Amino acid sequence: MLYLQKFISLGTIRLYISELAKSLERLYPVDEAGSVAEYYVSETLNLSRTELTISKNDELSEDNFLKLENSRKRLETGEPVQYVTGRAYFYGLRFLVDKNVLIPRQETEILVDIIADKYKNAGKIRILDIGTGSGCIAVSLKKYLPEALVYALDISEGALDVCKKNTELNGVEVYAFLFDILSDNSFPVQGEFDLIISNPPYVLESEKQLMHKNVVKFEPATALYVKDENPLLFYEIISHFAALKLKKDGALYFEINERFAAEVVALNEKSGLKNPEVIQDLNNKNRFVCANMK
Ligand code: GLN
Repeated sequence: MLYLQKFISLGTIRLYISELAKSLERLYPVDEAGSVAEYYVSETLNLSRTELTISKNDELSEDNFLKLENSRKRLETGEPVQYVTGRAYFYGLRFLVDKNVLIPRQETEILVDIIADKYKNAGKIRILDIGTGSGCIAVSLKKYLPEALVYALDISEGALDVCKKNTELNGVEVYAFLFDILSDNSFPVQGEFDLIISNPPYVLESEKQLMHKNVVKFEPATALYVKDENPLLFYEIISHFAALKLKKDGALYFEINERFAAEVVALNEKSGLKNPEVIQDLNNKNRFVCANMK
């Protein structure tokens, strides 16, 4: 008797990526759907981008197929791929992310790049990052300015847990504290700082409708939004705080909402900071303001 062995092929990795990308085109523009699918497959199968490229014609094993199918639903409901895989990349480093923290943004890399370059020979400076979230700014600065002492604050316990995991993952030490910068509580860190950095919430509630629905639906609101009536609350408090806590040659760096550069500059001046400067991002939008003490 002849037995016909039923052989089910799961297809190649390439085929899986292209089918996934197709189904994601409901949610993302074509190019982005393709890169989300690649990101998902490479992270889930633990393959670097190069490894993925050279194994695209390999047949998918049953094991790997099941791994990929496991979280595919989440991806297809629009959850950002970084949350689904639990990983994001920032300034050449890998970060763990979950719903307690914003996914690190590319524009913020510019801020880190400017500071890492400017302070590369500064030695043992004290840096404070207010509203650290995943710790992407604090951890990358510590990585690239290893002599610096880096302190990081956040109002969210969940975010601090993620930040701490990211210090471990990247093998650096950052002193992370739970603290609400809007509160009157006594500040948990003694002494003055050379650098204070903050990328606080700056998206207006009324700007929500302009944002991608995945951001609105999945990213933590406390990290993103401010009330339309008081959009600069964090900038006001932090520039005032900076004027008290910076050393006499210290500097403050903010990431900002592109609509409020002039207002943030004015707030810095009002707090007594000097030489405010507006810096643009790669889309030529006003994205950062820095100022110093002298
Ligand atoms: N740049 C982020 C966004 O557009 C906002 C970051 C923030 O509010 N600090 O989603």
